[in-house]
Amino acid sequence: MKVYNTLTKKKEEFTPLEEGKVSMYVCGPTVYNLIHIGNARPMIVFDTVRRYLEYKGYEVNYVSNFTDVDDKIIKKSVEEGIPAEEVAKRYIAECKKDMAAMNVKPATTHPLATQEIPGMLDMISALIAKGYAYAAEDGTVYYRTRNFKGYGKLSGKNIDDLQAGHRDIQVTGELKEDPLDFVLWKPKKEGEPYWESPWCKGRPGWHIECSVMAKKYLGDEIDIHAGGEDLIFPHHENEIAQSEAANGTPFARYWLHNAFLNIDNKKMSKSLGNFFTVRDIAEKYDLQVLRFFMLSAHYRSPLNFSADLMDAAKNGLERILTAAENLRRLSEASAGSLSTDGMTDEEQKLYAQTDAHVEKFEASMEDDFNTADAVSAVFELVKFCNTHASSDSSRAFLNALSARLTQLCDVLGIITEKEEEMLDEEIEQLIAERQAARKVKNFARADEIRDQLAAMGIILKDTREGVIWKRS
Ligand code: AMP
Ligand code: ZN
Repeated sequence: MKVYNTLTKKKEEFTPLEEGKVSMYVCGPTVYNLIHIGNARPMIVFDTVRRYLEYKGYEVNYVSNFTDVDDKIIKKSVEEGIPAEEVAKRYIAECKKDMAAMNVKPATTHPLATQEIPGMLDMISALIAKGYAYAAEDGTVYYRTRNFKGYGKLSGKNIDDLQAGHRDIQVTGELKEDPLDFVLWKPKKEGEPYWESPWCKGRPGWHIECSVMAKKYLGDEIDIHAGGEDLIFPHHENEIAQSEAANGTPFARYWLHNAFLNIDNKKMSKSLGNFFTVRDIAEKYDLQVLRFFMLSAHYRSPLNFSADLMDAAKNGLERILTAAENLRRLSEASAGSLSTDGMTDEEQKLYAQTDAHVEKFEASMEDDFNTADAVSAVFELVKFCNTHASSDSSRAFLNALSARLTQLCDVLGIITEKEEEMLDEEIEQLIAERQAARKVKNFARADEIRDQLAAMGIILKDTREGVIWKRS
């Protein structure tokens, strides 16, 4: 299997550290708001990478953090007059709902930065002891970037060019030895969450969090480290500097980065305001469509979001689901018939032809997870099923085709059997609960119910006559 490694800038044969096992760390979101569909891209593509590794028989230890202490979270907590912890807790819960609706598997571990402070204090102390970090007068601890000889190896940046870029922007009042040095620990400001440390009451820098969580849950050296391409510099470059200096071993063997999800060819981001949340999309589409849309492009290619492409993804997905449903229906219909036990010779020959589709699917995934080509292999299998499955087919043949199609869809995280739809009574019961919550001004619970229904494709409309709902 070949994977493109940002560190070496080429496709390399994938060999894990330990046979049969893969350790994988994916940088997760900062939780101060509902996630947008740009954030959903790494979740979906790296979940698919994980699923393919599992399909190949690897045991995958998949770790993805939540950054739950950060300036943006603190800002939101001040705006809303609630503790930062509450803000983070709320959006972690929302994020997990979105992940479930996109059929993103929960990680083996989802560590929270705020629960890992002791490990951060240890790593910072080790870096200070080794001369890779220093505490300034005000208690800020900085990483001594120039001391790490490999700095720039991931992003391809040259430290002297970085130095030149920084010369004009030295911030007055900062107590760094060198403008390139970055923060490991910073003193608290009035009203901010903080932890005790040997240097000052304060909180960690963002980069140290991931180095520590990767070490704790996966070890000093890991197989795969992944995230969006905006994280290459400085986040991942700094993680390498911290982890390799502290642990004395290479950090991650393969660095995988997804390209951006764009809108009008510009990166979708909160700061530009050009984003849709996953919830916005759930109002119009089943989130399986969003997942399928993401996988229709290679993860390293920019992907432009548009209604046309989403509609195309919807139609494509429908084609697959209809074929799967058709196979199940035919199989059920043939249940009573006596002549349906085994495959006929003719069917066995036909079934053997589907090996080619599976081989194409696997070859595409083996080539740096080319999901776009893997999807076309699924379409070819769908076409084959539509052509050869009929009410005259044996049950064994129908079931074998169905199992093949489902297995490939599983790797892509596409659910072929629609879950039981929520019953009307269950929906109405939730709506009644929402009305009751609103009456007692528990708007958080009311919104939670609305979002829960939205995630299942149920849209509410408040009218003078009461609440009207419909399925999207
Ligand atoms: P953040 O919460 O901004 O740290 O982002 C969480 C993850 O989403 C990171 O891996 C980012 O690289 C990724 N990400 C953010 N915006 C986009 C986008 N427009 N397209 C693809 N990935 C993104
Ligand atoms: Zn990270």
